[in-house]
Amino acid sequence: MNLKVELTPLHPTATDVAPPLLRLAGVSRSFRAGDREFLALKQIDLQIHAGELVAIIGASGSGKSTLMNILGCLDHASAGSYQVHGQETRELDDEALAALRRDHFGFIFQRYHLLPHLDAVRNVEIPAVYVGSGHAQRHQRARELLGRLGLAGHLQHRPSQLSGGQQQRVSIARALMNGGQVILADEPTGALDTHSGKEVMRILLELHAAGHTVILVTHDPKVAANAERVIEVSDGQIIADRRTPRSPALTDPATEPPAPAPRRLLASLGLFREAFNMAWVALVSHRMRTLLTMLGIVIGITSVVSISAIGEGAKGYVLKDIQAIGSNTIDVYAGANFGDSRAKSIETLVLADVTALNQLYYIDSATPVIGRSTLVRYRNIDVDAQLNGVSNRYFQVRNIRLAAGITFSEDDARRQAQVVVIDHNTAQRLFGPGVEPLGQVILIGNLPCTVIGVAADNKNLFVANKSLNIWVPYETAAGRVLGQRHLDSISVRIKDGMPSKMVDEQVNKLMLQRHGTKDFFTNNLDSVMQTVEKTSRSLTLLLSLIAVISLVVGGIGVMNIMLVSVTERTREIGIRMAVGARQSDIRQQFLVEAVMVCLMGGVVGIALSYAIGYLFTLFVKQWHMVFSPASVLTAFACSTLIGVVFGFVPARNAARLDPIEALARD
Ligand code: ADP
Ligand code: MG
Repeated sequence: MNLKVELTPLHPTATDVAPPLLRLAGVSRSFRAGDREFLALKQIDLQIHAGELVAIIGASGSGKSTLMNILGCLDHASAGSYQVHGQETRELDDEALAALRRDHFGFIFQRYHLLPHLDAVRNVEIPAVYVGSGHAQRHQRARELLGRLGLAGHLQHRPSQLSGGQQQRVSIARALMNGGQVILADEPTGALDTHSGKEVMRILLELHAAGHTVILVTHDPKVAANAERVIEVSDGQIIADRRTPRSPALTDPATEPPAPAPRRLLASLGLFREAFNMAWVALVSHRMRTLLTMLGIVIGITSVVSISAIGEGAKGYVLKDIQAIGSNTIDVYAGANFGDSRAKSIETLVLADVTALNQLYYIDSATPVIGRSTLVRYRNIDVDAQLNGVSNRYFQVRNIRLAAGITFSEDDARRQAQVVVIDHNTAQRLFGPGVEPLGQVILIGNLPCTVIGVAADNKNLFVANKSLNIWVPYETAAGRVLGQRHLDSISVRIKDGMPSKMVDEQVNKLMLQRHGTKDFFTNNLDSVMQTVEKTSRSLTLLLSLIAVISLVVGGIGVMNIMLVSVTERTREIGIRMAVGARQSDIRQQFLVEAVMVCLMGGVVGIALSYAIGYLFTLFVKQWHMVFSPASVLTAFACSTLIGVVFGFVPARNAARLDPIEALARD
């Protein structure tokens, strides 16, 4: 025992030879109280050497915590100089100060300041997270430290499941996570019962013995009696600085596990992953709030995706129908335009025009059309039907499919054969159920004709109507029924891939050449199609605008809740900063949270849209919503963007918090 005392003399020169670890010179700290300045620290001069155990005592409100916060680089001196390792802290930026806190200091607070939603291991790991050390390595060290502090059985416990003494031991483990060269303990036993307090003091003494510099605030004289140096503070001034020679317990410093080495290359990636994990934990621990925040985004994304899918589907439906009746056809009519009263008396549209048109390169086929409303009879049933005299190509030109039978041949046309193709409606009216239409003979006017084909029921938007149509060869209609030589119209099918506008011009030119005067007009569905596309485009634009507005509203909701969340989690932010989080870490964490909420909302929104699309198919048979990959991608991009844009302000607010004030909040 004697030997030990002699081996560790604490005469002043021994400590003054080496440069002090911490050096305060003329440090003052003033607070603004109303319109007066209040000096919490007055001209403090203090030097602390590596390996010292210093107790700071003094009455409540004397400035002990203020001094500790300045020592730990959590707070700035209003005046004077504070050097760590000879480095003037005034000259360091936030990043460097965060690094000092992270790598050199370990804080132990009276109220433990653990994060309530993390278990013991995760709490202890936090300082290493901001160093960027590997997950496994960090986890291992946290377990080891907790084990050495007697908490091996409480690794997965949350702070609320631990006693005060246990929580304080967790916070000691956290302080040691990155090495904790300087332990700053502000009344560490203040909230503990005698037994736990003694336990914590024993640990601090052991740490001191293991080589840590320990600075300890206390107003318990018995606690202070453990220290080799006691500094007494009163009214912001040091009134006593006593050194009591003591012998440190001989603990082998080598038992201290090495601090995790930072892995610089993977550090930022690891930090991002950690921000992701932390965001996830934060979101999961506030499920209700997260859901409500997401709701706005879900509604926004659902409307964006559904609306564009409905727009696409409807447009496709309409365009398909137009295409079905032939956007690639041009009709040539007699007269100046539809409804021309003189049209009936114009007889210049003739079969020779059809022949000439058929010779045009751009034209697939041209077919003559004559038609009248005619009385059609089967046994005792009379109906009025539209009789069309056409060539056999007409069915192809008009895209009319047969449900049964065949169309007439060129031979039928030459012979003026008495054959007829009837449509679905006519078949139903004339024959009713149970009678096979094919092979039946019907009277068209006075001409008996054999039914050789029945057209399929046409559900096309533009054709579906209740009128009855029957088709006979043009020659039969002209020669045997109507006795008319001129045509009512010519249906022209454009060759595939030819621009309909140009062909339309060519047809007009040819007809004008042949007739010498413009006693005809042409009509084609291409313009209709363009109108439909234009209409649907502007409609989609309008609806998208509404959807975007709902997204913006959703985004504002996210921002609102994030701002609340920042306020609510001020203490958490303070703790993270105290253990070494940079401002950028805090900003990143809240941004990641915002983006995550929005992305989850986006995914739910997209899923919901697909569900709506599925329901749609159950109730609407004719057409379906069409989801394009582009709209889904856009939805993802929108959610991310909203997260970044509306998460930015809350994240910036969080990063700008003053750690001292943040820690003071409850
Ligand atoms: P101790 O820890 O010794 O009890 P503190 O260092 O917490 O005392 O406080 C010292 C003095 O500074 C007190 O009078 C306190 O009211 C004042 N003070 C501390 N922090 C602030 C602050 N953020 N704003 C205004 N006054 C403060
Ligand atoms: Mg205090």
